[in-house]
Amino acid sequence: MNPSKQNTSSGARVAQTSTGVPIVAEADVVVIGGGPGGFAAALRAARMGCSVVLIEKYDMPGGVHTSGLQGAANPGAGGIHTELMDRFAAEGCIYTANEKNLPDWAGNALAHYDYYLTPGSPFSRSSFNPESAGCVMVRMLEEAGVQAMYGASFVDVVLERHGAEERMTDAIIENASGRQAVRGKVFVDGSGTAEVVARAGAPFVRGGGRQPETVTSDPMERPIPGGLLWIMSGIDFAQVAAYQKRENDPALSKLIDVARVAGDIPPELYRPKLAGQGVYGEHYIGHPTVDMSPIQGPGTFILWQNVPYEWALHMDDDAEHASRAKKALRQLIDAEAKFLVKYVPGFEKAFITHVGRYVGVRDGRHPVGEYVFSIDDARSGRRFPDAVTQPMTKTFFWDAYTRHTFEVPYRCFLPQKVNNLLLTGASLSFTFETIFMVMRNFPWCTQTGEIAGFAAAESVRQGVLPKELKWTTPLF
Ligand SMILES: Cc1cc2nc3c(=O)[nH]c(=O)nc-3n(C[C@H](O)[C@H](O)[C@H](O)COP(=O)(O)OP(=O)(O)OC[C@H]3O[C@@H](n4cnc5c(N)ncnc54)[C@H](O)[C@@H]3O)c2cc1C
Repeated sequence: MNPSKQNTSSGARVAQTSTGVPIVAEADVVVIGGGPGGFAAALRAARMGCSVVLIEKYDMPGGVHTSGLQGAANPGAGGIHTELMDRFAAEGCIYTANEKNLPDWAGNALAHYDYYLTPGSPFSRSSFNPESAGCVMVRMLEEAGVQAMYGASFVDVVLERHGAEERMTDAIIENASGRQAVRGKVFVDGSGTAEVVARAGAPFVRGGGRQPETVTSDPMERPIPGGLLWIMSGIDFAQVAAYQKRENDPALSKLIDVARVAGDIPPELYRPKLAGQGVYGEHYIGHPTVDMSPIQGPGTFILWQNVPYEWALHMDDDAEHASRAKKALRQLIDAEAKFLVKYVPGFEKAFITHVGRYVGVRDGRHPVGEYVFSIDDARSGRRFPDAVTQPMTKTFFWDAYTRHTFEVPYRCFLPQKVNNLLLTGASLSFTFETIFMVMRNFPWCTQTGEIAGFAAAESVRQGVLPKELKWTTPLF
């Protein structure tokens, strides 16, 4: 088959007769997606006495941070996030690199997070082992009595009209048994890409849309690229650092040049950053060199492989884009691993140990909910009567590294049109620059999950819809 024709629709359609879909489970709260947001929502609602079903496509909860291998163990934000970090630590899932066990890391040009530190300065970089963390998270859901369905893909919704609004009655899933329905009173969209919102026909802005003035003329509406993370073991970093110093080659540029001339580096690997032309300036765009961070244990590092920005891939809603990203990023990972082993001292015995189960989306659909939190809300330090937390202070690196103190209203958790659906994690009603630049990190996504789980359980307890719930007291 000609690959370029692979996904080209002929326009022909097939009629699918349906005899109905079996309802295989029924719960107070149905959570779709078990990332940091969905996991915490399910746990909180179950602990508040609700029956809860969690629908997860892969084999464990944790989303980008386990199935996607991310594993950054940022300090606890309170509630379930702190509990999770404590549990990971108690169960031996956390690995911490510092200046003693990883000298020459602080200030190293290859260090994803720690490149900006003064060389030789003290540092502490903690990560959790994504695989063992996933085991702990599976157990925590079991302990709370959540009915978790793994290997189950959410594919559709059943809606019921109630006046001007609609109510979701069932989530349609596909798993080894075929197509099934899960019935619920309240639903939580924890898909990370607002997939439930999209299937329910509620409004959202596509990734890459509404970009700031610097790129509004961009006809491609390029989303902030997603990425596939991978892990390599058997690395002798002391030897890498010795080479960097000996040859005065901090970013491995000399080795990259040699490999490029030999045809060992494809053009998309080690591309320059877009130097301020992109939506987020210098950040994340392109990989001028190896981009890595210690994880799991000595000699093991996680590496970043981002989608080339100029490809403008919408992986969350375009199957051809998603397939292209998967194929291309695996090829780039393969090429990068081969380059490292062949050319870079210290990598001779290194090997690929994991590739993320999915390509993470950084800038997918952004629901347009009952309130859309914008950068102006952060800049003006806006306060809300329905604030979900006490005022938070965060650094907006896209906004010239300014620190803003602000609140987030409960209405950001409520999509329009569907009155028994709650948003969470990366699927909140935020503009893309607020969500990408600050408000989609692991601790906050776990907190927002807990907030959504609390709202779902309170709605069930009070016999009201999430939209009717009066939110007057911050949860955190
Ligand atoms: C490449 C990358 C690097 C990142 N780096 C960092 C970092 O260094 N530090 C940090 O704090 N944050 C980082 N983030 C951000 C953070 O990981 C995300 O914002 C966060 O994981 C979002 O949480 P979530 O629960 O909303 O969604 P996700 O983590 O995406 O989880 C969504 C879950 O839903 C499941 N799902 C999706 N669709 C379906 C479906 N149809 N049916 C069933 N299940 C489904 C998925 O399998 C997944 O488990 C990164 C994100 C990406 C993509």
